[in-house]
Amino acid sequence: MSETMLDVEGLKAWYGAAQILHDVSFTVGRGEVVALMGRNGAGKTTTMKALMGLVTRRGAVRFNNADVAALRPFEIARLGLGFTPEDRRIFSELTVMENLDIGRQPPRRFPDGQPAPVWTPQRLFELFPNLGEMPNRPGGRMSGGEQQMLTVARTLMGNPLMVLLDEPSEGVAPLIVEQMANTIIELKKEGLSILLSEQNIHFARLVSDRVYVLEKGEIHWQGTMAELSGNLDIQRAYLTV
Ligand code: ATP
Repeated sequence: MSETMLDVEGLKAWYGAAQILHDVSFTVGRGEVVALMGRNGAGKTTTMKALMGLVTRRGAVRFNNADVAALRPFEIARLGLGFTPEDRRIFSELTVMENLDIGRQPPRRFPDGQPAPVWTPQRLFELFPNLGEMPNRPGGRMSGGEQQMLTVARTLMGNPLMVLLDEPSEGVAPLIVEQMANTIIELKKEGLSILLSEQNIHFARLVSDRVYVLEKGEIHWQGTMAELSGNLDIQRAYLTV
């Protein structure tokens, strides 16, 4: 097993008085792609928000050997945990280049001293050629899929060690879904760790090493992607198939 980048133990989260996450525990190894799967409302987005400190939460969260359970969102981001939210949060008045500039952060190193990948707009345009064709287009005049790519690219501008990707395949055209899968595979090759939220097994299967299945804010199953692919009972019980 590789070294652990993210170690979550007994995570609980609330919106106001409503408890949404009950006792969520999982790990993501360095260079590993882990999928958090479950239907609408299972708690995938809430788990990511809780990791980033964006909702009221309790439990132990260690990222890259640092205790981040009580840190504020910008402090967690500065340690190298990137987050691409489901609702994208593109600045619609700003151009592609200006959106990318907003994500810029200093280069980082992995715990063993190896440099983490350093991203520039140029490198990102190699990863996302569509964006390279429209550097001056305002975010608001891009398709949903292009905005999704821009959200991922902006997160990478922060030179993260790990990225939380909230439903990157949702509501985008099949061609873009394929590009998104290739991007995740490239990021893994660069040594990044990825936690992916996904309700559909077809996308998760292309990129994930391991899977945790969430339902009603609790983990109900965990295993390798190959094990999940062969387990129709779990797929029918908890996923959109
Ligand atoms: P989706 O695919 O719809 O994003 P999800 O697995 O990410 O599903 P969450 O968005 O984490 O699920 O939602 C988990 C539960 O929390 C749901 O019951 C949802 O109704 C509730 N919830 C989400 N956001 C809020 C909020 N701002 N206030 C109150 N309850 C919320």
